[in-house]
Amino acid sequence: MDKPLEKIDSELHSKLKLLMFSRVLFTSFLLGSTIIFQLGTSDSFLAVSLLVLYGMIGGIFLLSCIYIILLAFIRDSLVFAYIQVAVDTGIVSLIVFVTGGYTSVFSFLYLVVIIYSSILLPRWGVLAIAAICSIQYGVMIDLEYFEIITPMVLEGSLSAISFPGKSVLFKVMVTIVACCAVAILSGFLAEQTVKTKKELQLLEDQVKRVEKMAYMGEMAAGMAHEIKNPLASLAGSIQLLREDIQYDPYHDKLMQIALRETDRLSELVGNFLLFARPQAGKIETIDLRESIREVLELFGKNSECSSRISISANMAAGVWIEIDPVHFHQVFWNILLNAAEAIEQEGRIDIRLYESRNNTAILEIEDNGCGVPEETLKMIFDPFFTTKATGTGLGLSIAHSILETYGYLLSVESTVSRGTVFTLKVNRAAPPQPVG
Ligand code: ADP
Repeated sequence: MDKPLEKIDSELHSKLKLLMFSRVLFTSFLLGSTIIFQLGTSDSFLAVSLLVLYGMIGGIFLLSCIYIILLAFIRDSLVFAYIQVAVDTGIVSLIVFVTGGYTSVFSFLYLVVIIYSSILLPRWGVLAIAAICSIQYGVMIDLEYFEIITPMVLEGSLSAISFPGKSVLFKVMVTIVACCAVAILSGFLAEQTVKTKKELQLLEDQVKRVEKMAYMGEMAAGMAHEIKNPLASLAGSIQLLREDIQYDPYHDKLMQIALRETDRLSELVGNFLLFARPQAGKIETIDLRESIREVLELFGKNSECSSRISISANMAAGVWIEIDPVHFHQVFWNILLNAAEAIEQEGRIDIRLYESRNNTAILEIEDNGCGVPEETLKMIFDPFFTTKATGTGLGLSIAHSILETYGYLLSVESTVSRGTVFTLKVNRAAPPQPVG
């Protein structure tokens, strides 16, 4: 599921600030060192080539000031990123033009622009920037070749030698290929970085959750045991009283209520103990696709939600994992039931099972229900956290602690009004060998 838009926008906003700062620093250094080099070969501080370089540094400072002001007003950071990167391609063309055109040593700056655009823009946006760079460079060198424009010649630059006509096409082609290759490569690397960051974030969340649960579990287990015994004596005593005293419909009704409530409390305490110390299961190697199908069949028959919700399952075959089938049933049923309850009227649940890297398999359960606000998403695995009138808030915490005992990862992503996706990451096991 996508990240919330505000989060992406604020990340982009900070990256844009860094870009604006780096631009001023980098161009000042680059053009400043060119000026120092020029001063060594020129007689005057006010030679035309130097004036142009002064002007460019001033222009970039001015542009950065305008960007800083605009940053406070522009709502859509992505559009602003496109504008800045596109303007940067123009600045690079200008730098190449004033430093010798074909002979300029600064044509590599196009690659710098493409590389940082991959940090800001989506993949196809980076390719578009690479195309814009290629077009600008190609057109400029062609115009120079046909003598329609004459680039500025810096003192001591290579332009003093004759224009090597034959290799023009070759140089333009090499630059274009380099732009495209860098765009593809840096786009790929940027995507990998985002993926890795996301995985790390999920792991970090998981570790925090496990630490918190271990602490709560220890406390809870002690308390639950203390409650369970007096509760059993209470229920037993009322039962005896009910049998011994003379029948009175009013008293009998009161005792029935007391028994029902002690039953409810006992079940709650039992569930709570399950969260605190999940019972060790009988581990078997199960075919995940088959187990999911079994639960789905049962869910279709039993759940009142099944008539208004369509469930689609896209599952890879031959994914075996080690788990107690009862535990898997309990975990999957709970997630499925929550998904169904999150859908108010008609909706959809998509189940996806696929193989992943490092001998792991991923099971995703996605619904298009009400979703969970970002501030409550952190709490949904906490025991007793519920938003339902009759919920216990124990389902997900039990599921989490059960999976925890197997070392499997359960994570969640959600967007309000769009839906929720639970992701279960499990280690694959070898299929069981046939007996005999
Ligand atoms: P319960 O179902 O008894 O409330 P759970 O631990 O199973 O307890 O779930 C805790 C809370 O997490 C739910 O009350 C609900 O607010 C939220 N939740 C769980 N799954 C989903 C989902 N698929 N969509 C929206 N909210 C969910």
